[in-house]
Amino acid sequence: MAQIQLAGISKSFDKTEVIRKTELEIEDGSFCVFVGPSGCGKSTLLRIIAGLETASAGEVRIDRKAVNDVDPSDRGIAMVFQSYALYPHMNVRENMGFGLRMGGTPKAEIAARVTRAAEILQITQLLDRRPAQLSGGQRQRVAIGRAIVRDPKVFLFDEPLSNLDAELRVQMRVEISKLHKSLGTTMIYVTHDQTEAMTMADKIVVMRAGVIEQAGAPLELYTNPDNAFVAGFLGSPR
Ligand code: ADP
Ligand code: MG
Repeated sequence: MAQIQLAGISKSFDKTEVIRKTELEIEDGSFCVFVGPSGCGKSTLLRIIAGLETASAGEVRIDRKAVNDVDPSDRGIAMVFQSYALYPHMNVRENMGFGLRMGGTPKAEIAARVTRAAEILQITQLLDRRPAQLSGGQRQRVAIGRAIVRDPKVFLFDEPLSNLDAELRVQMRVEISKLHKSLGTTMIYVTHDQTEAMTMADKIVVMRAGVIEQAGAPLELYTNPDNAFVAGFLGSPR
């Protein structure tokens, strides 16, 4: 179980406030999508949830427990970035197992988890290859595999598909949705792509300049936007 609450989260860099008094609840097991223009604070909010960034004010709660002082590695969260950041000198198997190895997981356990994740992502035949021998879509699968092996309560995706071509983006979108269905894990997904938001989300959070403009089910936001910005962003009819 992993329900996430943001209570009065603010964040400033130097004197500039980039996240302002954010209140949000993300239901356990749901797929939540953050959308909004570049620079509106999506990545910062994700990094605060992951513990990679400290909030200037407010509380992050996972399953109703404040986690502000909990280490990123102890939050049960795994993050998938836009840049795959795979180690070029390691094969896929080693890349996927690396985090577990550093955390001291026994070898046999790592092997079992990597095998299972590779099956889920259908990359079993790629396990002995190096990243340079993979396509963009395959690399992104490995990056997701690296998150799966950690068996997290929450997956955070930061624009994971923006380096892929349009066709592959559609395919990966469907695969990530399937992954969510099969794992049942809470997922938070950042994108600036309205179509991704509308098709993947249980809940869409529309952000602008550090503020949540509106949050709700895709159809609810589309048909009943609170303001012109939300309507414009989601392409609602006027
Ligand atoms: P998004 O992911 O929506 O594009 P970000 O969360 O990356 O937006 O950035 C939000 C704002 O915070 C931007 O104005 C950005 O320049 C600023 N920002 C992000 N990270 C830092 C940082 N480490 N130092 C200073 N400013 C930052
Ligand atoms: Mg970003």
